[in-house]
Amino acid sequence: MAFALNTADYVAYINRVYTRIHENGEYISALDAATGDGDHWSNLDVGFQKLSEISEELKTMDLYSAFGKISTVMMAVIGGSSGILYASAYMEAAKKIKDKEFLGKQEIYDILEAMMSGIMKRGKAKPGMKTMLDTLHPVVQRYQTALEADLSEKEILEQMKAAAIEGAERTKQMEAVRGRAYYQPNKGVGHLDPGAVTMCYQIEELADYILEKL
Ligand code: ADP
Ligand code: MG
Repeated sequence: MAFALNTADYVAYINRVYTRIHENGEYISALDAATGDGDHWSNLDVGFQKLSEISEELKTMDLYSAFGKISTVMMAVIGGSSGILYASAYMEAAKKIKDKEFLGKQEIYDILEAMMSGIMKRGKAKPGMKTMLDTLHPVVQRYQTALEADLSEKEILEQMKAAAIEGAERTKQMEAVRGRAYYQPNKGVGHLDPGAVTMCYQIEELADYILEKL
């Protein structure tokens, strides 16, 4: 049967992301200490903790309102660049799901694509600049190709996960053009971009959450 996520599913997914991020504090903080100012993990951890705390309220909302609320909370609670960038991502995504009751394979594509363009517009970055976009962009591309090839939902989700992992991994060799790593003497070469890794966690959790429901 085709998958169809409602708001409660999306909230369950957000809670998985919170757990995943929360468990990886030392690792992500060390990545941001090497390339930035060390706060990326605490920024996201606080943001997802807050979302987790308001789970019950979010569950009562339709998808459009829930995404709007997620955006507002991220803007208010997450510090640093990632707060503004994720708030923009969720705001753009919300526009794509007005009046939708469920997220199926097409809607998941639509929100990922919207999140990517929201981040690009707000942060003025492109793929290849050693940011979270280096995870999200290949995910969107691979997902689109998989949809066009009419692959099964399981295959689409596995492709999406693989694209995220490979994309995040590629940031290790990239020279930063955006973000604080640009100001490092070696432009962060040799270190993974923390934002690309936390974006990868989110994509992996989304894929796994849906795969477990199939
Ligand atoms: P800050 O850099 O302001 O301290 P965070 O530490 O929370 O913010 O987030 C850093 C991450 O944000 C980086 O690892 C990178 O992935 C992402 N990032 C920074 N600037 C941009 C940008 N202009 N576009 C997209 N992503 C960006
Ligand atoms: Mg930082």
